Formats: sequence, C-alpha cells, structure tokens
Amino acid sequence: MDFPHVCLGIGDGMQPCTLAIDVGGSAIKVAYGTADGRLEEPRSIAIADVRARGDLIRGIVERICLALEAAPPHLDAKSVGLVVPGNVDEVAGIGRHSIILGWRDIPFGQLVTEATGLPVRVGHDVSAGALAEGWWGAARGHTEWLFLALGTGLGSAFVLGGVPYRGFNGYGGELSHVVALRDGPRCRCGKRGCLEMLASASAVVDRYVEASGTSGPITAAEVARRVRDGDPAAVEVWDQAVRALAVVASGYVESMNPSAIVVGGGLAESGGLLLDPFREQLYTQVHFADRPEVHPAALGASAGVWGAALLGLGAAGIQLSTPTPALSPARSSAGA
Ligand SMILES: [Zn+2]
Repeated sequence: MDFPHVCLGIGDGMQPCTLAIDVGGSAIKVAYGTADGRLEEPRSIAIADVRARGDLIRGIVERICLALEAAPPHLDAKSVGLVVPGNVDEVAGIGRHSIILGWRDIPFGQLVTEATGLPVRVGHDVSAGALAEGWWGAARGHTEWLFLALGTGLGSAFVLGGVPYRGFNGYGGELSHVVALRDGPRCRCGKRGCLEMLASASAVVDRYVEASGTSGPITAAEVARRVRDGDPAAVEVWDQAVRALAVVASGYVESMNPSAIVVGGGLAESGGLLLDPFREQLYTQVHFADRPEVHPAALGASAGVWGAALLGLGAAGIQLSTPTPALSPARSSAGA
C-alpha cells in the first residue's frame, strides 16, 4: 500500500504538542494535545466523508497529514497518538481486526510514520480512554480498576498497576462476550447471553423493542426516561442490564481486587438510574474482596482522544506539566 501524501518537517511553533486521533465507528476525532493538559481545536470528521473519497485507511492517513499541516502556529506537533477500535497490537502498531470498520492487519504505526516522519503510538480506543480516565478523570488516584464503556457495543479495560492489560495478543480486557445470562439473547459471536447483548446502550434498546413491541427509532436515553416513568417493559430490561453488569463485575472484583469501577458510554449518562442499583447489586455479590468505589466516567465521549493525546505525548517524550484537562473551543470550520 503506498501513500503519496507525505508531510515532513511540519511546525516550527513554540509549544510542543501531539496530534491526537481517535478513529471510531462513525467519526474520527482530532485534536492537538499539549503538555499542559489541553486538547486544542477538537473536531470530528464523519467516517462516511472519509470513505466517500476512497479507501478508508488511505483517507485516515491523509487526514492525519492535513491535520498536522493545519496545526495552529503556536503549536509544534512532535508526534502522533492514534487510537483505533477492535483488536489492536499496540507493540507492533497494528490494527489487527475491526468488525465495525472492516479491516484486518493494518500497520497504522508504519503507515503514519512513513507519511509524517513523526514518532507514532497506536493504541486501543477503550484502553486509551481508560488511561485518560486514570490520568484526568474518574479514576484519578487509582492504579487497580475496571473501566466499562456501555455504548453501541460494550468495551472494557482492566487497569493493572496503572496500565491497561491487553493480554498476550491484544484482546485482553474484554468483558463483552462473557456470558451473563444463560439462554439469553443470541450474540453475533454465536453464544447466548453475552454481556454486550444485555448491557450495552444498543442492547438495552433492542431488548426493550422486543419486550414492548414498540416500533420506530428509540434511543437508550428514551428507554431510561420510560424506566423513570415506570414503563414495565423498560423497567424489566433495565433490571436485566443491571443484573448482567453486576454478575460479571462481581466476578472481576472477587478475582482482581480493584479499588474502583468507572462506567462510561451512552448508557452511563443515565447517572444514578444505572449506577445506584448496579452498585447495590455488586456489593451484595462481593463477599471476599473489598467493595470498590463505583463512579461515572468523567471524560465522556472525549476519553478516546484524550487517551490518544497521552499516547502521543509519550511517543514524543513530552512530560505533562499539569494534570488538568481542558478543551479549547471547537474550530468552526473543519480544516481537516
Ligand atoms: Zn458474544
């Protein structure tokens, strides 16, 4: 694969930074991460727009080059931090497999280094988000903790000694296909009752549509509203999601002894409606290990790009000067 768009020797600005990129299922988030804990000019590019112009991988690399060229004059991009979904070999910088974006064995690290001439670190989106929550967010002060991201899918990260555990080939830390309900709904992996089929935001919507016979588009936030209104089908589906989370998380707690569990993703935006019964059920199921704190994630949908910034700053050897994150206002015209 060749990438004719090469951008070398960029930036003679004053403040070192990294270009942080979070490639997601529907959008690429881009920002400049600085040593004093800021994300400058965060913006989002629709994956559909990148695909519309041709090959997705080539498009991602080109957008990275364009973003480097468009860096504000006071920033000097020294590196790139890139996080992607799916199975990722972080050591080799390879995106092994992404079902949602449809790739296998893409050497992102090599491609981006060749195109930019800059050091690059490639990471897993959920693990990097967990790293950011530990650095700046809800898990500050913890070194042993579990991150659960309940979004379109279900992502998780086991943070051990302050570092997300990735297993021997990059798949470690995933709880999505742990069976939480025997004979539960069929999963795309072929099993039944996987946690992702019960407790992701999409699953809650799907289970509610099945249970209620509701037709038409509905969101997880709407299901949450119906739980508050006492809709029996919504309450049943919500309870099922909470039970599934508590069963799987209690197994983690009993075996791994974390001091905190941080819950993010769209479903966690319902706040206490999810986290209060989850905490209560978790605590009744944990007998030997200490009960961990349970917190909502603090960085929201930006966790991945914050994590990419951390990886990129590390790749350039840039020390963070202040551990306080801040977002500068989004740029009105998307330059890259
Ligand atoms: Zn499954």
